[in-house]
Amino acid sequence: MSLLKKQYNVHWLTGQFCEDSSESMYRRSIKTRVRFESSLSLIVAAVIFGMFAITDYSLLGLTREYYLLITMRIVVVSLCLLLAYIIARRGSYSHKIWLHGMPLWILATGIILIVPLRPESLSTQVTAVVVATMAFYLLIPNLLTVVTFASLYLSTGFLVSAVLFAEIAPVETLRIALLLVMTNVVGFCALLRLESLQRKQFSLLHEARDQNRQLLKEIAHRKSLEEQLRMVAERDALTGLNSRSHFMKRAKALLQSSRLEKVPFSLFMIDVDHFKSINDTWGHSQGDWVLTKISEICAHSLRPTDVIGRFGGEEFVVALPDTGPDDALIVAERLKTKVAELPLKEEMSELCLSVTIGIAIAHSEEVDLQALISRADQSLYVGKRDGRNRVVMYRKRTEEE
Ligand code: GH3
Ligand code: MG
Ligand code: MG
Repeated sequence: MSLLKKQYNVHWLTGQFCEDSSESMYRRSIKTRVRFESSLSLIVAAVIFGMFAITDYSLLGLTREYYLLITMRIVVVSLCLLLAYIIARRGSYSHKIWLHGMPLWILATGIILIVPLRPESLSTQVTAVVVATMAFYLLIPNLLTVVTFASLYLSTGFLVSAVLFAEIAPVETLRIALLLVMTNVVGFCALLRLESLQRKQFSLLHEARDQNRQLLKEIAHRKSLEEQLRMVAERDALTGLNSRSHFMKRAKALLQSSRLEKVPFSLFMIDVDHFKSINDTWGHSQGDWVLTKISEICAHSLRPTDVIGRFGGEEFVVALPDTGPDDALIVAERLKTKVAELPLKEEMSELCLSVTIGIAIAHSEEVDLQALISRADQSLYVGKRDGRNRVVMYRKRTEEE
């Protein structure tokens, strides 16, 4: 089974892609190379064709035939050079095939016209026709159909001229005909093979590019899925704060580095007061709005190095590295005030929004995050018990109460 897509099927006789769009894409891709190769081959062919004027002179001398021949050679060489220039400047293998094919017809006509003017040197001309036919097939790139017709025109025209003007015997005619047929068959097969191989190579390259593109798309898709999954795992959907598990991970790392650097580490446990009654009075969605606003206040009034998480329903937790008890108290009081001053929606104007904050500090002593959280929780409990809307710092005696 072919691995290539149907659009890259190559026709067995023309050596071109069966699909027009693929063929034009291929032709566009080789445009610059074909322009260069075509005009270079044409210049070489014109120079060689012109140089045969020397043999014309040695064979004919300054006769009428010689002048006719030299005129014809000058016309052919000039046309070929002109076409080489035009092809180099404006050649387009996808749109102007006729322009690329034209020099072949001119050269073929020139070669045929030599016969009536120099009939006695037929054997040399047969060699020249064979070489020209092979050159047509092998040096003119990617024009199999045009090259085939031009070569057949050259062979037939030459044979007819040879019969008419050089008056060759039937056996000789047959010999030349067979030689030219063979030349055409070999040239055709060689170019057909070359064209098919080039297109197969082109299609393989495109397949590989397509697959690479798909692979990159797949990778990007997977990355975005991973990112989404990470967001789901690490972020709280309502507030966008760190999820509880992600907070624990980050806070643990912060606590550890604070310990290593021997700097204090504070932890806040923040709980919205009477939140249940907010839900009950104004509804769950207004409750959600309040939670979002409080999380925004936390995010805006804390340092970028502080880590904030949503611990549960209406509870938030904050890890403050490099923060001692005095600073922690100031920050917590500021937070509490900002929450109390939060501009509320008109319909909630009667709400007295407040939070209670429990603080626990780790300073040089060996305390793990879980213990610190439970200390902050105990302080929070004390704050709730003592009337809410307050900041309570953990002290040993809190544990005893
Ligand atoms: P306290 O002052 O003692 O903290 O009282 P409270 O009412 O705030 O505490 P309680 O634990 O009794 O009630 C918390 C409420 O928060 C109960 C729950 O329905 C609500 N809640 C939890 N998660 C969410 C949420 O995501 N959105 C909303 N709107 N409400 C939530
Ligand atoms: Mg609570
Ligand atoms: Mg509460």
